[in-house]
Amino acid sequence: MDAAAFFSLFQGYSLAYDDLILLPSYVDFGVGDVSLNTKVTRSLSLALPFMSSPMDTVTESKLAIALALEGGLGVIHYNFPPDRQAEEVAKVKRYKNGFITEPYTLSPMQTIDDAAALNEKHGYTTIPITHDGSPHGQLVGLLTKFDYSHRLHKGRKIHERMRALGEIPVARHDELIENNELSLHLANLMLLEKRGIVLPVIDAQGNLEYLVTRTDLEKREAYPFASLDAKKQLLVGAAVETHPTARERIRKLVQAGVDVLVFDTSQGYSLFELNLLQETKEQYPHLQLVAGNVVTAEAAEKLIAAGADAVRVGMGIGSICTTQEVCAAGRGQATAVYACAATSAQYGVPVIADGGISKISHITTALGLGAACVMMGSLFACTDEAPGEMVLEDGVQLKKYRGMASPEALAAGGAKRYSLEKERVRVPEGVAGKVLSRGSIHSWVPLLAAGVRQGLQKLGARSVTTLQQALTSGAIGIERRSEGAKREGGVHDLY
Ligand code: IMP
Repeated sequence: MDAAAFFSLFQGYSLAYDDLILLPSYVDFGVGDVSLNTKVTRSLSLALPFMSSPMDTVTESKLAIALALEGGLGVIHYNFPPDRQAEEVAKVKRYKNGFITEPYTLSPMQTIDDAAALNEKHGYTTIPITHDGSPHGQLVGLLTKFDYSHRLHKGRKIHERMRALGEIPVARHDELIENNELSLHLANLMLLEKRGIVLPVIDAQGNLEYLVTRTDLEKREAYPFASLDAKKQLLVGAAVETHPTARERIRKLVQAGVDVLVFDTSQGYSLFELNLLQETKEQYPHLQLVAGNVVTAEAAEKLIAAGADAVRVGMGIGSICTTQEVCAAGRGQATAVYACAATSAQYGVPVIADGGISKISHITTALGLGAACVMMGSLFACTDEAPGEMVLEDGVQLKKYRGMASPEALAAGGAKRYSLEKERVRVPEGVAGKVLSRGSIHSWVPLLAAGVRQGLQKLGARSVTTLQQALTSGAIGIERRSEGAKREGGVHDLY
């Protein structure tokens, strides 16, 4: 059946991604020809339809940078004060491939033991010294491994052993500008000419901006699909609450250069969100606003009327989520995505299918039901770039992952998302746990993307856009999977 007929037959049912299957269609092109380019908001396009959840075990600047380099978009969580969140956004905007934007630094008054500890922990042997030890403070020198011996200089101050400014190669930002951009090529030439191992880059006031290292230059990779703004800076999103306190946060995020603002609440069809959406759109007409979360066509339509540039869909279906069990409210994600996407498409507003993606096929199904993009929590919490250290349990490498309404995250500030911060007694709507570690975003995301391309090719769609056109024209066949069909579709009967 085509989607319209299928969902009218199943009116009154909440269907999950696994409850349905998309029928293959005629194919006259290869997997490599499939484009996953997609529009995630009214005016923003990405090379890959992937966004990361604004959760404190998923998205801070490190993951947002890695994901944007691969062609997706990270949304920085808001479980920290507005200034800290804005700083995370600024870190993404400051990022330049090949330039280290957050170098490890020490102050002249720290000791050789501090340098040795930094070396031990992170492996860095050449450390810029700033007057107060902060990463962007006034540059006063450089300490290399040739300048000290931990054994002989134990306890000595760094200023006694460091190389002072006149003795080291330093570049001023304006010396590295080529075609209105900071040029890695020029940095490389200067590094060679001055025979340095590292090149600190300073601003007009002498503050440290970046560090370029020989080793990084040698292993630098190209990211042809990176998500970039008009100034060629990486795109980044940030989440905000739907409370009056959000105004101050929004102002700071805008100042830091945020591209996409995500109104983050588990129930987005509310007077507060509609008002805040309208007000923010009037104040910042060019800022892209993602509204949600909703699961009905009526709610999606109201958010669009209030100024939403994208609608985020999903309630109670996240892998760490107990909202449906606590509140008896929510919707099967396949039904929710189709209902919201069919309506939003009439206004040219993309839908972001948020949560419940636990395998690659779910991404393809979400796109096949009209989503322009998927947002994932657990499938990104498992990467090296997500906050938190990897832990080893019974020989298995794991990373921590917790719902923003889990008891711990609520205590750390997550209550905002669930309108629970004023409540004396709170019932958590999420849990904390661990997920299997999957390595770096830079190997994990290409794998997910390759799987989705294979899926689209089987469906006969050369691109996300053609898939969406096929959905609207009724060219995509959808069937309900019986329990037997689900068993058959998985691995079975192996000895
Ligand atoms: P996942 O990709 O299935 O792990 O789901 C991630 C999504 O779950 C997020 O983008 C949020 O929309 C949602 N979410 C995050 N924390 C919680 C929670 O504690 N309870 C319910 N939903 C949550």
